[in-house]
Amino acid sequence: CGIIGYTGINEALPFLLSGLEKLEYRGYDSAGVYVHTDDGRDMLVKEKGRVKDLEDKTKHYQLHGTSGIAHTRWATHGEPSVANAHPHVSDDGRYYLVHNGVIENYKELKQTYLSDVVFKSQTDTEVAVQLVGKFAAEGLSTLAAFRKMINLLNDDSSYAFLLVDTKTPDLLYTAKSKSPLLVGVSKSANVVTSDATAMLSLTKDFIELQDGEIAIVSKTDVKLYNEQGKSFTRKPFHLNIDP
Ligand code: GLU
Repeated sequence: CGIIGYTGINEALPFLLSGLEKLEYRGYDSAGVYVHTDDGRDMLVKEKGRVKDLEDKTKHYQLHGTSGIAHTRWATHGEPSVANAHPHVSDDGRYYLVHNGVIENYKELKQTYLSDVVFKSQTDTEVAVQLVGKFAAEGLSTLAAFRKMINLLNDDSSYAFLLVDTKTPDLLYTAKSKSPLLVGVSKSANVVTSDATAMLSLTKDFIELQDGEIAIVSKTDVKLYNEQGKSFTRKPFHLNIDP
């Protein structure tokens, strides 16, 4: 299970796929990728099995774009299948989300907030993206909707999230609790990854997120918010290791 996000000046897909390959050692049963294309399409490709199988499938599509997110899944809720592979999409198609971890109270959240939503998967994760979609449709900003969803997860839950709002596809919203997550910064791109080794070919400079913090990552900038929603800055650390 692993997460990769890329937004920068180059094609996102090669970074996302090579990043997923480097995360393969963490174990997984399926994988998926979302890319916002240069001509404005929201493209989602998912596949069971190996990252190589996902890569082969992506060759059938035009996936040229400079922002995207990707995931390797280790199924906890719902069998390994294309439908259950991430990214998951909100009902209105506005939000794409990948998740590592477990949402322990997903059934309660589904019953309380989402009884009118038709789910496309059996995963706990889909609840998270449907909640963001619902709260945004009710008028919250994406950041506020993301924060509200995170605050509804019970303490036993664990997550590393990466969220894209298709209205601002070059921004990566990310947060973590009890699952690893790093923001990698460079001149040409900013990235999000579960493991620095997946991104060493691009950068060795990383900002570590603490539990409950949220980052909004753009092509040129990283904005950080603490649990109370207050913005703050944190210097990247430099990793002295070879790719
Ligand atoms: N609990 C989620 C699922 O089963 C995420 C699993 C993971 O960490 O890959 O889809």
